[in-house]
Amino acid sequence: MSRNSVEYSREAFRRKYVSPNYSGPLHLATTVSICLVVALLCAVMLENVQPLEWLTIPLTFLYANLSEYLGHRGPMHHRKPLLSAVFQRHTIEHHAFFTDQAISYESSKDFKAVLFPPILLFFFIGAFAVPAGALLFFLVSANVAFLFMLTAVLYFLNYELLHFAYHVRPSSWIGRLPFMSRLRQHHAHHHNPQLMTRYNFNITYPLCDYFFGTVYKNPK
Ligand SMILES: [Zn+2]
Ligand SMILES: [Zn+2]
Repeated sequence: MSRNSVEYSREAFRRKYVSPNYSGPLHLATTVSICLVVALLCAVMLENVQPLEWLTIPLTFLYANLSEYLGHRGPMHHRKPLLSAVFQRHTIEHHAFFTDQAISYESSKDFKAVLFPPILLFFFIGAFAVPAGALLFFLVSANVAFLFMLTAVLYFLNYELLHFAYHVRPSSWIGRLPFMSRLRQHHAHHHNPQLMTRYNFNITYPLCDYFFGTVYKNPK
């Protein structure tokens, strides 16, 4: 994809979705606040957690890493009935806005092309975290249910913040954080239009990419 076609896609996205009143920093702050409030509410519900119950945290982490991988490898890159909006938003819009040759934002208005809309957060929490948490509450224990929701919402926040950071200019202080260049490179390869349907589907930590053998190895 040429530089000009990225510029054209960016202009089209901004015209369609970014209103003059949109504030990128406010969008980011809203996402962080909602996630932290939900996590805090779950944390205060914990009572006398047993050693085995703490295992909920690593298990939820692995489950979230797998969901991130499968969601990205599946409906985000292959149009599926009922989920075509996900394909449109990710493959058609996010990948046209950012390529491996143009990976960074031009201004904070461009945060809109990376962060999920805050309203979707309530959908994720209401449609996925709460029903699974309720099931764990009745089948296992209240602590396991709240630890699951706490880890899931913090994982989501981690996803949003890391993905946000990959699209910040590499020379900024966020771009220069430890480990950032390696994780950003992993995601930048995925933004190469020739590679995006085959490699580097983890956005956070590439555990499933290693497990399923989909890590892109740069030919030297
Ligand atoms: Zn991206
Ligand atoms: Zn992708």
